[in-house]
Amino acid sequence: MRIGAIEAGGTKFVCGIGSKDGIVEDSISFPTGQPEDTLSKVVSYFQDHQVEAIGIGSFGPIDLKPDSPTYGYVTSTPKPGWSQINVLGKMKSHMDIPYGWDTDVNAAALGEATWGAAKALNSCAYFTVGTGLGVGLYSEGRLVHGLLHPEGGHVPVRRHPEDAFAGTCPYHGDCLEGMAAGPALEARWGLKGQLLPADHPAWEVEAYYLAQSITGLILTNSPQKIILGGGVMQQAQLYPLIRAEVRRNLNGYVLADEIIHHIGNYIVPPGLGTQSGLCGALALGIQAWQDSQS
Ligand code: ADP
Ligand code: ZN
Repeated sequence: MRIGAIEAGGTKFVCGIGSKDGIVEDSISFPTGQPEDTLSKVVSYFQDHQVEAIGIGSFGPIDLKPDSPTYGYVTSTPKPGWSQINVLGKMKSHMDIPYGWDTDVNAAALGEATWGAAKALNSCAYFTVGTGLGVGLYSEGRLVHGLLHPEGGHVPVRRHPEDAFAGTCPYHGDCLEGMAAGPALEARWGLKGQLLPADHPAWEVEAYYLAQSITGLILTNSPQKIILGGGVMQQAQLYPLIRAEVRRNLNGYVLADEIIHHIGNYIVPPGLGTQSGLCGALALGIQAWQDSQS
């Protein structure tokens, strides 16, 4: 049996097929163009690769409420052409099979909880620090939805004392994403993140903002693992800076061994490398298939 997976990103789409044990056997990737054209490529991939169910982890915001008239839509995104697009409806109109549907970061959190760094745990948070900044939450054995879905990339942050940068978020200016996603790094320092040297002061400022939101999440959500992925987190020097800052922020208040003695094993890179999103979409597809059998 084969299950399909779609990692629907604002920059690129990845489609794949895999097995129930999380092995991705084939995948393709293409840049995210206009919806009609992009989704036609997805449909044609799955017409060539028959699957029993498909999981979709999508950029957002998206509508996750099954009883909503716009369930399955990408809703209010600023991405040109993609606002109010019925992604799930388009897929269903071509292939009448079970679908799993969630945010890209929730999918990544599920992938990590199923086969990655949070395997065997019943909670984790997955941050992606890339073109955008998103946070997926898996709590008490399930993905967190709620009112809409968590949008942890847009939390307000306290400004670093030496940082006068206005921020890049079109909605909030200096929220976490506006201060710490890849485009903020580039706008603040005049160089893309990948070109900034490892000892540049940028990384201490970056760690300051990320650690602040991680601290807030530890205090409000108490995840058993915090996983940091996305292009910016390829800067390996960020991990120790973030861990140290989180400990400074908490100041001994949260009496968990994971934080006091083993923080190197608590705030970690993705166990699935760059595959968390795709494997997570696969896990969503597997869940959808299992639900359809019961
Ligand atoms: P996306 O979020 O678009 O799916 P990425 O996660 O690769 O893709 O994020 C792209 C952002 O990450 C860009 O702003 C880029 O400058 C930044 N980035 C990519 N690689 C690195 C790197 N090695 N170090 C720091 N920043 C990086
Ligand atoms: Zn914002």
